[in-house]
Amino acid sequence: MMNSAVIIPEDLPFTLANLSPSRSQRRLALAVVLALLVAFFITAGPLANFQPGRIDAFVPAYGTAVFVNDLITAVLLFYQFAILRSRALLAIASGYLFTALIVIPWLLTFPGIFAPGGLLGAGLQSTDWLFNLWHAGFPTFVIAYTLLKDADPTKGLWRGSAGAAILSSVVVTVAVVCAVTVLVTAGQAHLPRTVLDPVRFSALKVYVVGCLILWNALALLLLWIRRCSVLDLWLMVVVCAYVLELYTGVLGLARFSAGWYASRFLGLVPSILVLCVLLHEITTLYAQLLRAVLAQRREREARLMTGDAVSASIAHEVKQPLTSIIASANAGLNWLDRVEPNLDRAREALRRVVTAGHRADAVIENIRAHFKIGARTRTSLNIDDVIREALAVVRDKLQTYRVTVHAHLNERLPRITGEQIQLQQVVVNLIANAIDSMATKNGERVLSIRSEVQHSRYVMVSVEDTGKGLEPDAVDRIFNPMFTTKTDGMGIGLSICRSIIEAHQGQIWVTAEKGRGATFHFTVPVDLSGPSWSDAVGSVNRNMLPKG
Ligand code: ADP
Repeated sequence: MMNSAVIIPEDLPFTLANLSPSRSQRRLALAVVLALLVAFFITAGPLANFQPGRIDAFVPAYGTAVFVNDLITAVLLFYQFAILRSRALLAIASGYLFTALIVIPWLLTFPGIFAPGGLLGAGLQSTDWLFNLWHAGFPTFVIAYTLLKDADPTKGLWRGSAGAAILSSVVVTVAVVCAVTVLVTAGQAHLPRTVLDPVRFSALKVYVVGCLILWNALALLLLWIRRCSVLDLWLMVVVCAYVLELYTGVLGLARFSAGWYASRFLGLVPSILVLCVLLHEITTLYAQLLRAVLAQRREREARLMTGDAVSASIAHEVKQPLTSIIASANAGLNWLDRVEPNLDRAREALRRVVTAGHRADAVIENIRAHFKIGARTRTSLNIDDVIREALAVVRDKLQTYRVTVHAHLNERLPRITGEQIQLQQVVVNLIANAIDSMATKNGERVLSIRSEVQHSRYVMVSVEDTGKGLEPDAVDRIFNPMFTTKTDGMGIGLSICRSIIEAHQGQIWVTAEKGRGATFHFTVPVDLSGPSWSDAVGSVNRNMLPKG
């Protein structure tokens, strides 16, 4: 990630540094500040005279907690910088690194922890001045963050290598902490006296703390004025906590007083909370990203499936006319290859080639139109003409498998509205499937096609065969795409039939029994605008009434 060359513009609401805080986040931040104030007033009031005494394990435990917490926060913020390349983020990440690192000399020099007078050649003033510089340093980084954040966004972006920038920041921060440590240890004799002995503070401490509070208040003010992101909100909470921590720390003017212990908690608890919020926000963003990636993948798969469906439809629908072209062309060649060529039969075969070629062309056009919304042309049709044409298309196949056709067509049927080629495709598919089913079974092969009026408003076509029939569970799934029981089947024909019929506001269904053949039915609405509609329906209905 560090080497990533992608720079995400700062105005993208994507990360903590540019994501606006939600209402609940603002409320939570306010609740934390109020809780800190309550803790402050309890310490300053009822607990003001309470002296818990020195707890040896407290300082190392506290120091370790601050170090781990602030180091993790720094790492997270450096990663945010690597994504956004914002100099402001680099500044605040360095601030957290500074606080994590300065805790180390603070712990080492603390009197009575590792040595009675502290390590690193520390003097009486060293630890307290480390604490003061720590609490002056962090708001300085916060001020730098707010000022850089507000700069021209194009200038605020780091254009170079993120890794190099982070490395430089780490080196500079480590150098600053080392310099501060040397200053307060080697130069401790020259430091103002804020500590009287290992436990008690001097009156000067109050003035120093007063200055630190003002410096932190300035950082808070700048954050308040320029606040806009989740990170700004939580930094305000942290700086508030710093102010309260500083004030509480001098309440008893001594280490290990109730105020001093409380001030450690006031500083630590909000920064742990900030880390938790950062982790929560990052996890939420990660989850959102994951959802977006999955949605994108699903969309791509759906698009691929549509592509598959288009290519499968073309292959499926064009196969039939191509077979017909090859068969007729072969027949034509046979007529010409005879000792005495039969030109009439050859001409007839070539005509069939031309017709099948036109049909393939029309089928391709139709498939394109089917996937192109709004490009369809519907006309008023006689469904029996559609059936007759479909039978002509599958004539060769019917002959090959010696299928007897019973067509119960009704000359007086009302006209329907539809698209000729698409409806023809449906009938051809149903007949071709029926032939396939009968081809697998011995015995008489009879195909019955019937057209009739249904509920006065629809014309129903039924295609019945004497084939192998269907398993009950297949009846439910037969119209699903990719459902096939044939070794060379694609399972697309019936799903195309269903989408065509549904696009015509009709319905398609099957009734079948295993071993007893299958009957496919489909309906299409009658052409209500047709002049002969009522006559036709009337006469058909009359024809259907029982005689006498
Ligand atoms: P394909 O013919 O490529 O398999 P279809 O969508 O046209 O695709 O048909 C799906 C399946 O429906 C077929 O594999 C077959 O099992 C079953 N089927 C279709 N028509 C009939 C029929 N008339 N009799 C028995 N089974 C049929």
